[in-house]
Amino acid sequence: MINFNVPPFTGKEMEYIKECVDNQKICGDGKYTKKCNEWIEKRTGVTKALLTTSCTHATEMAALLAGIKEGDEVIMPSYTFVSTADAFVLRGAKAVFVDIRPDTMNIDETKIENAITDRTKAIVPVHYAGVSCEMDTITDIAKRHNLLVIEDAAQGIMSTYKGKALGSIGDFGCYSFHETKNYSMGEGGALLLKGDRYIEQAEIIREKGTDRSKFFRGQVDKYRWVDYGSSYLPSDMNAAYLYAQLEMADEINSYRLNIWNTYYEGLKDLQSEGILELPTVPDGCVHNAHMFYIKAKDFDERTKLIAFLKENDILSVFHYIPLHTAPAGMKYGEFRGEDKYTTKESERLTRLPLYYGLTKEQNEYIIDKVREFYGKK
Ligand SMILES: *Cc1c(COP(=O)(O)O)cnc(C)c1O
Repeated sequence: MINFNVPPFTGKEMEYIKECVDNQKICGDGKYTKKCNEWIEKRTGVTKALLTTSCTHATEMAALLAGIKEGDEVIMPSYTFVSTADAFVLRGAKAVFVDIRPDTMNIDETKIENAITDRTKAIVPVHYAGVSCEMDTITDIAKRHNLLVIEDAAQGIMSTYKGKALGSIGDFGCYSFHETKNYSMGEGGALLLKGDRYIEQAEIIREKGTDRSKFFRGQVDKYRWVDYGSSYLPSDMNAAYLYAQLEMADEINSYRLNIWNTYYEGLKDLQSEGILELPTVPDGCVHNAHMFYIKAKDFDERTKLIAFLKENDILSVFHYIPLHTAPAGMKYGEFRGEDKYTTKESERLTRLPLYYGLTKEQNEYIIDKVREFYGKK
């Protein structure tokens, strides 16, 4: 059976975790957390990166820092993971969903402005499949309407938009290191901060509302409860697991890109013939091969394709029941404008296996089976 996902593993993980255990330093903000933070800062150019317990929690921190409160509205796509909305709904805000573009499955930047009201506080672009949203347009809209931009870059590490790292473009960027992402620590994420404005408050919120980060740097002689906060810092053992992969980030990235390109090359004639659709990467975007998906004609064809692949020992999956059609989405959110593509496109999409370690033979075998399904040997 070819799994849909296998968590990344490079070989150094156990050694680094053992070091934490041997040194009896397993709580948060140890050596490996610092190394991961610095790695992200160096690679993305942000002033501060803070490792968190998840991308969901990084987004919750962004919502707290943005001062999101009851009655506020936050604009986002409906075609996304629940956390994009949850982090804001938890603060009492309404999730305002707008349609996606069918080419990238990202928020349609031309539909955002019509969804803005005097209650709107932020725009949350989700970089689906590690392919950037149209950030120049989104940043420009945000500036003109005085809104914050919070990038859900859960899938976007190592990707760029016009040379800028995803997660470093908006006011806040959120990464995920869940086991399904390109680099993992089991459960984990990071909050990326541009400039100095939110750093101090972010450190306080992450450390239970205390100034413990300052205390550890020797800037204050005791730490106290100074503001509201929670516990958003991961164990250094998890960071140790992640660091083993960040050290090899370029290698993992090229490995994934190679699989992605092989899928693309092996299936592009089917796209030319109008049999299926493949992902689009707009000019100016460099992606990280987070995902390879194909779009079948419709829901029925997709169901048959997934079943056919399964009969041939290939696990492919679809995802994202549009949030506005889910029970919580109906309660806490609202779709503004027409749902022209969100539902329709979400019902056609299937993700093919893509992970560090998937072999060339498996890659070719999957292509063959997709071709066979479409009667194209
Ligand atoms: C994975 C993912 C998340 C959630 O990440 P966690 O680290 O599991 O909290 C949020 N948004 C998107 C788009 C994701 O793909």
